Formats: sequence, structure tokens, C-alpha cells
Amino acid sequence: MNDADPNSAVKIHPAVDNGIAPATPGFAGGTLSCLCSTNPVTVEISSQVAHNHVCGCTKCWKPNASLFSQVAVVGRDKVRVTANEDKLQVVDESATIQRHACRDCGVHMYGRIENNGHAFYGLDFVHTELSKEKGWSPPEFAAFVSSIIESGARPENMGAVRARLNEIGLPPYDALSPPLMDAISTHVAKQRGVLQDA
Ligand SMILES: [Zn+2]
Ligand SMILES: [Zn+2]
Repeated sequence: MNDADPNSAVKIHPAVDNGIAPATPGFAGGTLSCLCSTNPVTVEISSQVAHNHVCGCTKCWKPNASLFSQVAVVGRDKVRVTANEDKLQVVDESATIQRHACRDCGVHMYGRIENNGHAFYGLDFVHTELSKEKGWSPPEFAAFVSSIIESGARPENMGAVRARLNEIGLPPYDALSPPLMDAISTHVAKQRGVLQDA
């Protein structure tokens, strides 16, 4: 532990623990690869991602021993499986987000919403750390922070976790970020006729 910075002992995710790399202007995507050493599943992403964040929910794929996942969204038309698609299977058919995982290494290659009434229909969820390319949009906030307790994090350490997230520039929220929660409620209000376009 570094005495000058006690929060640095709290590990969030390898992509943010040692500084967050900035996006490259004009970055246009890359290829995600699962962790299999032979016949990896590869997924081509043909644009920059948006709303990248770290997530504490129990559903997102996390690298070994990490408290959080790192997950971003991209238009589903920008996502294409380019190798070994036969190794993909949906983790939980009943979940809102259908997470397509490699059955050999367990890595989630993309999550897709098939309900076209959902606020985020048309967006796929991807883990940019699976790509060798540099320049992806970096994480901007931490979602579902309290949920890490459901994965075994100690409740009494949550103050230190939130302090560390604030320190590295990832405001902690216990749901999604306010703009995304507003987007969901706006979608629901329009569906119900409560809200008309301005
Ligand atoms: Zn694999
Ligand atoms: Zn999650």
C-alpha cells in the first residue's frame, strides 16, 4: 500500500487501476478476441464505442478477481463476428441483455437486446479490453457499485471503493449514470404517452 494514497490499494479493474488511457480522435474500432489460445472467437467493431463505464453488477463479464467489469455500447450494425461463431452461446436466455459468451473460455463477446421496445434496443454491449487496438473511449463513470457486495465484496469497504472511484475520475452510481437513467425514463414516458416530443 502507498501511504500517500491509501485508496490506491483498492483495485477496480485493470483498465483503470494504473491510469485511464484517453480516446484517440478519429478512432474507428478494432477487433475483440476471446481468451482462447487456439481458435479464438473474434468480433469486429467498426466504430468508436460510447458510454464506456465500469460496472459492478453480477451479470457482466469481469476479468479474473476484478470487482468491476468494463463495458461500453456500440450500434449493433457495427458488430460482426468474424471467427469461431460456433463457440458462442447465450449465457442467460431470460436476461434483457443476451450475453454471447465463448463456451470454452467464458468471455462475453457481445451483449444484445432483442426486445425492440427497450430504451437501449439497437445497442450492443462490448468489452473493449478484449482488443489490442488503443484509442477506445475510456470509462466515464461506475455503475451498479453497491452490487459488488453480491459478488463477495465486503460492505464495510464500500466507502473506500467509492473514494477510489471518485479519485480516478469515475463517479460512482448505484444504478446507471443520471443521463442514462434519464434516457430510460424518457423512453418509458414516451411509450406510455406521458411525454411528447418537445
Ligand atoms: Zn474463448
Ligand atoms: Zn454490469
